[in-house]
Amino acid sequence: MRTLRVAVAAAMTAAAGVAAGSALGVLGSGPAQAAPRAGQVALSDVMSGARPRLTCAIPAIKVGSAASLRAFHEAMAGCADRFWAERFAAAGLAYRSPTVTITTGADSVCGRISGAGAHYCPEERAVVVRITRQDLRDPFRMNLAHSIAHEWGHHVQQLTGVLGAQEALYLPASDQARTILSHRLEMQAECYAGVFYSAALKSIKPGIAWDEWVEAVRQAEESEVHGKPRNLAFWQDRGYHGGATGFCNTWTATRAKVG
Ligand SMILES: [Zn+2]
Repeated sequence: MRTLRVAVAAAMTAAAGVAAGSALGVLGSGPAQAAPRAGQVALSDVMSGARPRLTCAIPAIKVGSAASLRAFHEAMAGCADRFWAERFAAAGLAYRSPTVTITTGADSVCGRISGAGAHYCPEERAVVVRITRQDLRDPFRMNLAHSIAHEWGHHVQQLTGVLGAQEALYLPASDQARTILSHRLEMQAECYAGVFYSAALKSIKPGIAWDEWVEAVRQAEESEVHGKPRNLAFWQDRGYHGGATGFCNTWTATRAKVG
């Protein structure tokens, strides 16, 4: 259990770079909007009904093999892309795939990436996953799967105008307000990951029961960018059980749920 918690904490900490670096800091200027929910409404409408299953072939991971980790992430990316493309199509929204880079190095289309883990770069519409030594030594399937699932959540936010709207609110906000806006953004990405899992978890073959995974997320280290692990766990679980983005409106949730 210790390994699991450490691994989950590492993923959460690593993902912090996304919001801190790209999503919040270097977005281009966009028109101010009242609330970040433009495309979300249409997406939510069609997503509150049936929960289509998704079958993806996600390969086994061999300890110490960068090639097998790469194949795993690529298969996960293909799976997430198919899932969201179908959901957008059902909502009558235009979908564009992000570019995906799986690397063992630090250079990426978003410039040099620091730290371990995964990133989403809004301007480039790029998901970048870095394979770390820790991944090679001790690959934990669900944790690795979450890199793609979470970053695709940010891509969905980008396509639906949420990232741009969040930025418009974020830039003039006080430090305290910025923290909450950052949490709302990250918790929604967690919830979107959960929505994806609602259809794809069986294919991922996570090697851990869903409730144990949620508990592990709950026990992870707190990150200032993402917010309290128990809330991240709450939103991921809500997305998973709801199976629709309509369950992911973190923007009107009480502060206690996004702290
Ligand atoms: Zn994130």
